[in-house]
Amino acid sequence: MALNIESLRKILELEREKGYTDSAVIGGLDRFLHRWSGQAIESITSSELLSRFRRLRLDDSKYASMTQPHRQRWIDEILSFLSELGEMPAEKVEIKPPPSVTPPVPRRRPSVAKRQKIVGGSLDASITTLKGVSAAMAAKFNRLGVKTIRWLSEGEEQTIMANVWQAQETRLGGRRSTEAIVGDETGNVRVVWFNNPYVAKSLPTNARVVISGRVGIFGGRHVFESPEWELLEDKELVHTGRLVPLYSLTQGLKPRQVRKLMKEVVDQWAGQVGDFLPSELRKRCKLLELPHAIVQAHYPEDETAKNNARYRLAFDELFILQLGVLGRKHEWQESQPGNPLGPQPAPLDIFLKSLPFELTAAQQKVLKELLADLEKSRPMSRLLQGEVGSGKTVVATAALLVAAANGYQGAFMVPTEILAEQHFSNVCQLLSRAGKQIAEEDNLRRYSGILSRPLTVALLIGDLQQTRKQEIQQRIGAGEIDIIIGTHALIQKEVGFQSLSLVVVDEQHRFGVAQRSALRQKGFNPHVLVMTATPIPRTLALTLYGDLDLSVIDELPPGRQAVKTKWLKPEQRDSAYAFLRRQVTEGRQAFIICPLVEESEVIQAKAAVAEYERLSGEVFPDLKLGLIHGRMSAAEKDKVMHQFRSGELPVLVSTPVVEVGIDVPNATVMLVESADRFGLSQLHQFRGRVGRGSEQSYCMLLAENPSEIGRERLDIIEKVQDGFQLAEEDLRLRGPGEFFGTRQSGLPNLRMAKLSDVALLELARTEAIRLFEKDPGLKKPAHAPLAKELGRVWQGGGELS
Ligand code: ADP
Ligand code: MG
Repeated sequence: MALNIESLRKILELEREKGYTDSAVIGGLDRFLHRWSGQAIESITSSELLSRFRRLRLDDSKYASMTQPHRQRWIDEILSFLSELGEMPAEKVEIKPPPSVTPPVPRRRPSVAKRQKIVGGSLDASITTLKGVSAAMAAKFNRLGVKTIRWLSEGEEQTIMANVWQAQETRLGGRRSTEAIVGDETGNVRVVWFNNPYVAKSLPTNARVVISGRVGIFGGRHVFESPEWELLEDKELVHTGRLVPLYSLTQGLKPRQVRKLMKEVVDQWAGQVGDFLPSELRKRCKLLELPHAIVQAHYPEDETAKNNARYRLAFDELFILQLGVLGRKHEWQESQPGNPLGPQPAPLDIFLKSLPFELTAAQQKVLKELLADLEKSRPMSRLLQGEVGSGKTVVATAALLVAAANGYQGAFMVPTEILAEQHFSNVCQLLSRAGKQIAEEDNLRRYSGILSRPLTVALLIGDLQQTRKQEIQQRIGAGEIDIIIGTHALIQKEVGFQSLSLVVVDEQHRFGVAQRSALRQKGFNPHVLVMTATPIPRTLALTLYGDLDLSVIDELPPGRQAVKTKWLKPEQRDSAYAFLRRQVTEGRQAFIICPLVEESEVIQAKAAVAEYERLSGEVFPDLKLGLIHGRMSAAEKDKVMHQFRSGELPVLVSTPVVEVGIDVPNATVMLVESADRFGLSQLHQFRGRVGRGSEQSYCMLLAENPSEIGRERLDIIEKVQDGFQLAEEDLRLRGPGEFFGTRQSGLPNLRMAKLSDVALLELARTEAIRLFEKDPGLKKPAHAPLAKELGRVWQGGGELS
């Protein structure tokens, strides 16, 4: 079988057909000939033929530089030589049998040593064990979260990429079949497709092809038996396929590098990845097997295959996530009993009756939910969502009062000192209506007439004088203070409580495992209420806070007016300023949010200072403007905030990053620069700073040159006031990764799952709950692979890796 001869003949004939334009083979004829002759020369045993062959100088051809007639003559010469060669008796031309196929194309495989290391060392070996991955490259992959070749494992199936030397119809076992020889400079291998003569027609000589399948022995030689195959249009096959995978990239990693590597990885190892899902679950949910899903996700046969693969992988992410959060909840609630807080109708009644308003129906419902939780000995673990101004603080204060009435301490934690002060003053205001203030010290108030004993509230912030701070801390430790308001850090690090039983966490997206375990180390297992004003779509809430029960205040107190919202063009800036000035003249106050500068806090601060100077120098020289940005000290920020709250400053200029979660009912104007660059939820948060009083409020959004998506957002925020609806839109427009702006939210890194896919999320959650009920610790042998996978994803006892 004149394999090499045949392939060269076909190429030369093709070249002739194409008019001697050196276009028959990729890379040019010279290169091909050089490679071909190297193999051919070893096959020619007759010395006469060999010397004629040498005279053709195929190993050093100059076809590229020949003229067209010269090319024609030369090709004719070779072709006639080839036909002679083909007719030679076998003893003169020995066609070498292809080299062993194990491995068929060694250069594309990790070395044997490396493979053994992988097999022995598990899939969690570093990706540097892959050929072609340097430490520097590995570092870049690490940044993408790719650290190990855990997708990999050794397989019996082989995948090679090779040239087609020859493919033809043949009869095997009396049936029309296809036989081909493929290979490259490292060797050749035979491929047969039994009972399928059609493949032959699809495999042109010298085409690049990927062959994937089992290697057997046939006729004493290694052979691929009816493998999967795919023609590659280009040598850079993995880069040009129609369904090319797109990998997330970090600086310095080129898409091609990643794709090439992934292709290798997927080809060689996907088949052997164990499926960690219990098969009964997999069948019930109609999920693909994992190895199949991995391959199809990377190099799908078609759209359907791709979608099915993604569905399986997305399910895995959400399922593992749900198992993790359920485990966390279980750990929090079952491992250590908390303190049941009995109902306290008398003080609660006094408090509620003293309010200058009725609780809304939503507030009442949520308060009931809280009280029911507090009565139990398993500690509460609840998320309270409610728009800015929906009245969360009032409800939380009622719960803190119940804790105090039971003889326990309660803590109210907020992210910033400004907010701590504001809460302190709000809570004190509420309590002074309910009872009688009998003591007023620095950062401390005491009330009678609410409990059967005096009730003491303290504010603990860093700004406090050292001696005073220590004094308050000491009194907290002695149990003299019932309700402590402060920032997270202060409460966790420095304060020894005497009997903490309820923690309210405000305006924070996550009260993590770390914070909880810090409290536990102090010997407490308090009820925890996390409050957020960021409306979180249900899917996201289940994902982020699946370990928390959900309560929602979905109703604003009556009489609140919608904030009139308008998107303005750059040329309308002056009229925006004029409008703001009119409001100030009428005694109202205004916020101006500086343009978003992303580089760094320092640059951001500089930009804010420049904007502040421009505004106070050129635009409002007659008005008193305040400025706050992230580089100011807490004391400086505080001072400005106080001035703004007291009305001393009519206009507050602020960077977007600074928490302006303050309550200034007299503020009626919010002006946001570069508004198109903020997400809907953030714009809604800005807008929530106004409209807190009885006056009509306004939100003006300036956008220089919004992108299409920016324009869509501005259109939406103009029309929609409802925070939950906006959150859903935000999720749709931005995707969950950016929903909160940054990773700090603890948002899990989902690669496949879309949080907008509610049905899949619900399925994953249902299945996780079902499994969790059967085998909470995943102790059954059948669940061992799953337990391992869970441990891998949720590293370090509960924090998502
Ligand atoms: P949140 O913490 O959800 O932003 P707050 O509890 O601070 O909201 O309430 C915002 C304002 O609304 C406060 O001035 C509060 O006294 C007032 N408020 C709370 N509940 C009601 C209600 N049911 N009716 C009228 N005003 C209310
Ligand atoms: Mg609030």
